[in-house]
Amino acid sequence: MNRTLRVLIVEDSQDDAELLVIELELGGYKPLWQRVDTPATLDVVLDTQAWDIIIADYSMPKFTALEALQLLQDKGLDLPFIIVSGTIGEETAIGAMKAGAHDYLLKENLARLVPAIERELREAQVRHESRQAREKLQYLAFFDYLTGLPNRSWFLDRLQECLIRYQEEPHRLFAVLLLTLDRYQMVKYSLGHELSNQLLVSAAHRLENCTRRNDIVARVESDEFAVLLTEIQDPSETLEIAQKIHQVLKLPFNLDGPVVTTNASVGIVLGNSGYTQAEAFIQAADTAMHDAKVRGTSCTTIFDREMQKRAINRLQLETDLQQAIRYQKLYLNYQPIVSLSNAQIVGFEALVRWRHPQKGPISPSQFVPIAEATGLIIQLGEWAIEDSCKRLCRWQEQFAQAAAFSIGVNIAGSHLVDPDLLAKIDKFLNDFQLSGSCLKLEITETILMENASEAMTVLKQLKERNIQICIDDFGTGYSSLSYLRHLPIDILKIDRSFISGMAVDQKDLDIVKAILTLAQTLGLEVIAEGVETEEQLALLRVLGCHYGQGFLFSRPLSPEAVMTLLNSVPMLQLR
Ligand code: C2E
Ligand code: MG
Ligand code: MG
Repeated sequence: MNRTLRVLIVEDSQDDAELLVIELELGGYKPLWQRVDTPATLDVVLDTQAWDIIIADYSMPKFTALEALQLLQDKGLDLPFIIVSGTIGEETAIGAMKAGAHDYLLKENLARLVPAIERELREAQVRHESRQAREKLQYLAFFDYLTGLPNRSWFLDRLQECLIRYQEEPHRLFAVLLLTLDRYQMVKYSLGHELSNQLLVSAAHRLENCTRRNDIVARVESDEFAVLLTEIQDPSETLEIAQKIHQVLKLPFNLDGPVVTTNASVGIVLGNSGYTQAEAFIQAADTAMHDAKVRGTSCTTIFDREMQKRAINRLQLETDLQQAIRYQKLYLNYQPIVSLSNAQIVGFEALVRWRHPQKGPISPSQFVPIAEATGLIIQLGEWAIEDSCKRLCRWQEQFAQAAAFSIGVNIAGSHLVDPDLLAKIDKFLNDFQLSGSCLKLEITETILMENASEAMTVLKQLKERNIQICIDDFGTGYSSLSYLRHLPIDILKIDRSFISGMAVDQKDLDIVKAILTLAQTLGLEVIAEGVETEEQLALLRVLGCHYGQGFLFSRPLSPEAVMTLLNSVPMLQLR
């Protein structure tokens, strides 16, 4: 079967061109051909039609093969180019090959034409494929395959250009917004890779749609995007765009079935922040983004230099905490919880303590959030449950009255939904021969609301083991009535702020009363946190609050001090 070949013949002689065509037909081709003999016509046909091969005479009255080659190269075309000439010396031929011709042959030896064409077509195909591979590599080097957005390298190059421009023209301000998708990791672990990728692609589209034409959106890490605002008139514009980003990202994402909600933590750095290198600049954006993330969901932080110092301190603290956990330098103190009717101890809350080798005691309110953000909280929490079970077991062995004690352990949100939690709890209860009812897990409202569906499953499984669930710091979070009704909760712990304000502020008193009424209606027990004065105790008794905890009864105690207390206090009565 004849193969079609689109042949462009650069030749002044019609007869010679037809001879070439006959040779091609004899070689089994069906040539679709055209003859040109001026630069202008070659220019037009190259622009308007596609060609498989070019056969050119070496020298013509109005044109030469070398000029034709030049034109081809100017247009960036890589077509097989064969010179067929009446007379051509060896040196000229070599010169033509150096200029880019692929082969040359003499008009009297046209038998070589077809084999030469076949070889050149094959080689052109090879060149085409390797060019495509190179282009793909280049694409991968600068673009993100998943979202089609520019990647980190490309972004840093553009950022560096802005930094250089800013040094020359300081009135042209720019900014970078760096953002991470809140809950992305959770989506990835619960719904899998494919759906979490879909989330990234949709988020990328939304980001592109809510930024301006000249802004550059890039994917710089797996769940981090950066926006380069190449020109801004006023720093407030960055906050407006951050606001838009929060708005578009908080709309639900429909991922081939599941609908997920997310939002972003956004860090902003302005072009005038004093950095000259793109890497350092983006690092500053990272610091700001991290700050936004630590402050909660959907926050925006504008970078300042102090933040960098705080970040370095924090990093140091993170490392120290990691070491402290690994070498078991943390310890627990236990604060008694008493029955308000007779001040008898009914249990303890375990509170973690850390004495830093250089900085001295560090408050859990400072290091627990760090443990949460770094994932260390799971190790910390497991150890706290185990240690608490071990202590309670000892107390029960030595004091008959301790049989009815329970021990409360604070649990972070990520730990509550950790797949190993239940197995670990079962093991500890079993190791120390404790029934589930001895253990209370203290969880804050915010944790429950943010992980409502996952939390529900875990809470039910805890309930099956008679483990009690206590809502810590009650009144400071969402206080949603519906979750109180639906989730298997046993105890509300009224936040300390209401107890301390109750004797002086009518509003606080009203809140305490409302919580007690609510608890009664729902059949829940109540513990008042932070009871410090006789007046507060008297009020709580009048209001019918069941249990209390606070400095009035006892500060958190070391395990040895608990032993001394249990030994010395008759009937375990603290007042
Ligand atoms: P929390 O669970 O609400 O613990 C009660 C806090 O109130 C404790 O602070 C306790 O020492 C303090 N407190 C108790 N009675 C009084 C009082 O009468 N007056 C005053 N002013 N304070 C009182 P602490 O030990 O500093 O712990 C702070 C928070 O750190 C805890 O609040 C809890 O959220 C977290 N935390 C402590 N230990 C752990 C732990 O092992 N795991 C986790 N995930 N979080 C923990
Ligand atoms: Mg607590
Ligand atoms: Mg509390």
